[in-house]
Amino acid sequence: MIYRHRYLDGTPVHLPVGKVVCVGRNYAEHARELGNEVPTEPVLFIKPSTAAVDAEGGFGIPKGLGEVHYEAEIALLIGKRLSASADDDLLRSAISGIAPALDLTLRDVQATLKAKGLPWERAKGFDGACVLTRFVLFDDSFDLSALPIRLTVNGEIRQDGSSADMLSSIVPLLRHMAGVFSLLPGDVVLTGTPSGVGPLHRGDDLVLEMPGISRFETRVL
Ligand code: ZN
Repeated sequence: MIYRHRYLDGTPVHLPVGKVVCVGRNYAEHARELGNEVPTEPVLFIKPSTAAVDAEGGFGIPKGLGEVHYEAEIALLIGKRLSASADDDLLRSAISGIAPALDLTLRDVQATLKAKGLPWERAKGFDGACVLTRFVLFDDSFDLSALPIRLTVNGEIRQDGSSADMLSSIVPLLRHMAGVFSLLPGDVVLTGTPSGVGPLHRGDDLVLEMPGISRFETRVL
């Protein structure tokens, strides 16, 4: 299949990836599948820059720490500084690239932390916890309210969603994030995962895609 979209030069790890700002429970069905309440405002968290890895050639997962879950998400590469004062035009024009990505989560560790009311970083911010694919150059031809995201594991579609189902759609989400943490060029935003999350195992073959926009094959090493 030939995609009409152009990739940004190089792979994400060749780009200056800054912090990774993420949202939890941004799809109602995913919140429910984990037994969480559907939030009234975005649940934000950050992965450090050291969490970002390139999916090219495969990626590793932590061992001996319980289940490592995949969460396929639409990633946005930020190209302009955004702070609390950013208006909608600036928020939209600050998106320089989009790509399918994985928010890897130590689900058992997270469950323990959540039960104790402790922060999630240990479960979400470890080295390699943000698996990035090549960013596609973002332009006005993209409809932010209908971006597809799909993950296939060992030939079986596990997650198949659309930004249409986000509780906080992309521009309001960026506004909310930028009101808390200024976003800088090179930062990455993960926009939440649709339902269907589950564990990864060594040797799993993955296809991470935004159908019609980008498709990327990788595996768990
Ligand atoms: Zn996530």
